[in-house]
Amino acid sequence: MRTSDVVIVGASLSGAAAAKRLVDAGLETVILERQELPRHKICSGILSPRGHRFLLENFGPLPREALHEPTSCKGVTFHFPSMVSMSMDFFGGTTPHLHRKFSDHWAIKQSGAEVHDRTSFVGLEDKGDHVLVTARKQGQDILYKARTVIGADGPSSLVIRSVYPDYPKQIPWFFVGQKFHDIVDCPLDPQYFHFWFHPDLGHYTWSHARDGQQIVGVGFKRGDNFDARHKNVVRYLAEKHHVRLSEHTSHEGCAENFGPSLINRYVFGKGNVLITGQASGFLNMIGEGMSCTLHSGALAGEAVVEAGRRARPVQEVYRRMIASEVRRTTDQWNPLKIAFGRPHEADFPAALMKLSWRERGLVLRDIWRFILLYKEFKWGRQIALAAAQRLAAAGYPGGRWL
Ligand SMILES: Cc1cc2nc3c(=O)[nH]c(=O)nc-3n(C[C@H](O)[C@H](O)[C@H](O)COP(=O)(O)OP(=O)(O)OC[C@H]3O[C@@H](n4cnc5c(N)ncnc54)[C@H](O)[C@@H]3O)c2cc1C
Repeated sequence: MRTSDVVIVGASLSGAAAAKRLVDAGLETVILERQELPRHKICSGILSPRGHRFLLENFGPLPREALHEPTSCKGVTFHFPSMVSMSMDFFGGTTPHLHRKFSDHWAIKQSGAEVHDRTSFVGLEDKGDHVLVTARKQGQDILYKARTVIGADGPSSLVIRSVYPDYPKQIPWFFVGQKFHDIVDCPLDPQYFHFWFHPDLGHYTWSHARDGQQIVGVGFKRGDNFDARHKNVVRYLAEKHHVRLSEHTSHEGCAENFGPSLINRYVFGKGNVLITGQASGFLNMIGEGMSCTLHSGALAGEAVVEAGRRARPVQEVYRRMIASEVRRTTDQWNPLKIAFGRPHEADFPAALMKLSWRERGLVLRDIWRFILLYKEFKWGRQIALAAAQRLAAAGYPGGRWL
């Protein structure tokens, strides 16, 4: 049996951020990763300014191999069915276009933690003063013992299932898939991430340039047909934006737990098991997840250090500390904050004001029609409740978290 202070499940950005805090504080930390490192991660790689600052401040300057072409991104462009398009630059200039396979591996190495790759977390038992973890490597079971376990294992988290077996049935699941095309002609500006607020295209529709190809991505409720959805978007891009692409050369997709951050229903774990990153439900608007994932991971690491020093239950300390990241993330979905604050890292209100009165009206109408696509999830009242609670308090109530 391998004994350490902390076992982290998942060698991604949240795992790296948690590990950095733990190793810096002198705690023995082992990271389990089911894939071989450096591992592939499906992601557009568009980093927000806050995510960029976190990487620089905690891990140092990014190596060149951690970037795709184009190496940077200026911001996002929103497209609407009325054919109005608005580009918004990130505050503070361009940010790096991350190649997740190498950026995540670099961050993990910079954290200084011991990494066991090709090692899958299988289950755990919280014994009160320690946690026993079972993992599997090349068909063999391996046992780990730690004071605390951090689940940084992404949207389909097995660590969550081991503490809340029914959780996956409690939330709606989405599928996001992307196909890579050689470009014949593409007038979409390669310096921007392009997003369509179009209910006929799907719940989440995007396109951007990468390494000489164009990515066309679609997100929808699980169970729909990826090929048909994708073809529909390619046809739309050709008709409306004159984008001409060759047949795709490769494709990929995964399940997504989109929703918890909109309605303040995060999962932070139980007893000596903390959940962090996207597994907790952290996801910013337009699917930007890296900044909140990094910050939540760091808070999980800090909570373990703080709980040890003050001899307090780690779950209590983590929930107190994570409230700041909940506030930042859920503010991005709060209609009052969107209208009267500036919760995002690009200036939507300013871009809207640059449009004519007629165009502004069209954009607001199109956004409303797009939001109606999500009606079936019954999030409207919960978002309104969270917004009202935020008015009355400095944050969002922790009573809704698991
Ligand atoms: C198509 C797509 C595009 C995206 N584009 C962007 C973008 O442009 N910008 C942005 O900021 N965010 C983007 N995101 C979101 C972003 O990728 C996530 O928010 C972020 O990667 C979450 O990090 P994480 O550390 O929480 O988990 P993940 O990155 O999901 O990593 C979890 C890790 O845990 C490992 N793991 C899982 N199960 C086990 C197990 N049982 N045992 C051991 N290891 C395990 C996995 O192999 C993985 O390495 C995108 C997501 C998708 C799907």
